[in-house]
Amino acid sequence: MLLDILVYPDPRLKTVCEPIKEVTPELRQLVKDMFETMYDASGVGLAAPQIGQFIRMLVMDPQSNKEVKAPRVLINPELELYGEDIKSKAEGCLSVPLQYRADVIRKNHVHLKARDLDWNMIEEDLEGYPAIIVQHEFDHLNGILFIDHIMSVKRALFDGKVRRWQKRHQ
Ligand SMILES: [Zn+2]
Repeated sequence: MLLDILVYPDPRLKTVCEPIKEVTPELRQLVKDMFETMYDASGVGLAAPQIGQFIRMLVMDPQSNKEVKAPRVLINPELELYGEDIKSKAEGCLSVPLQYRADVIRKNHVHLKARDLDWNMIEEDLEGYPAIIVQHEFDHLNGILFIDHIMSVKRALFDGKVRRWQKRHQ
């Protein structure tokens, strides 16, 4: 089932999400629906709060647009960022309107701990593109969007565009 994605400036996107205590059949179904929604929108990641579920879970697939998929589910993820700064090239978000994209300074390496859908502990190091995706999706769980990381001048211009866009669609 395709799920509705919340779009900025929806204030619910600022919610700090709650940890998950156990995997339920409802959670498994939600994960399935989130993958369907993410692939349908040609996204590489989707966090639970983006579809109005304020729990600490995200799905991602750095190979979303390729033939061989690499789907990942991360429950209660914890990240340790390290290594050099890199620029994400034209980062975007399914919750940010007008197909707005911008470069964001991210870390090139992430040490990741999370649970999977069988409640196994995952622990691994990610580098480059997957590391950027997981930082972006993890931010959602704390109510942060990539546009919160860009320069204030750029942000003000973007917010002006969003206001004009909202007026046209009222
Ligand atoms: Zn996003």
